[in-house]
Amino acid sequence: MTIAYRKDWDTYFMDIAFMVSTRSRCPRRHVGAVLVQGKKLLGTAYNGAPMGVPDCSEAGCMISEQYELEIVDGVETMVKKQRCIRTIHAEQNLLLFTDRIDREGSTVYVTDEPCWTCANMLANSGVVEIVYHRSYPKDTEKVRAMMASKGIEFRRLEGYEPPRETVLGVSD
Ligand SMILES: [Zn+2]
Ligand SMILES: [Zn+2]
Repeated sequence: MTIAYRKDWDTYFMDIAFMVSTRSRCPRRHVGAVLVQGKKLLGTAYNGAPMGVPDCSEAGCMISEQYELEIVDGVETMVKKQRCIRTIHAEQNLLLFTDRIDREGSTVYVTDEPCWTCANMLANSGVVEIVYHRSYPKDTEKVRAMMASKGIEFRRLEGYEPPRETVLGVSD
């Protein structure tokens, strides 16, 4: 007799976030986020266009070209990036569809490290812990500094393998 493998809570909730991310219709990025209080799931969200509005699968991505500062071999360089701005980010949808009272003292599990805007909003949302898996280096330095000064636990789930069928190649 073998004892059935039992998921720890971090894996359990991160797996749910990855399952939720498969609802996204943006071909560039699938992001899922869940709100957890204690061991209770209180909300789920993914990145997508507003309800009733054509999404990326119908209308195509809405590409915005932006120049961003990157350090390449120790040299600061302006790099042109393309980003899809059609979708509301998963973390922002999570805030739109949950109540403040449910967020107080709660944890957010999100498949991808939050961008600056989402991190800023989460920092003001009542949550006390944010756990992500895939790194998003663009904003990581200022996001980490802000979370530290706000006293919000901000951590990457290391050694984690997302459920295979949930993973989409991420384009930048
Ligand atoms: Zn898109
Ligand atoms: Zn974001």
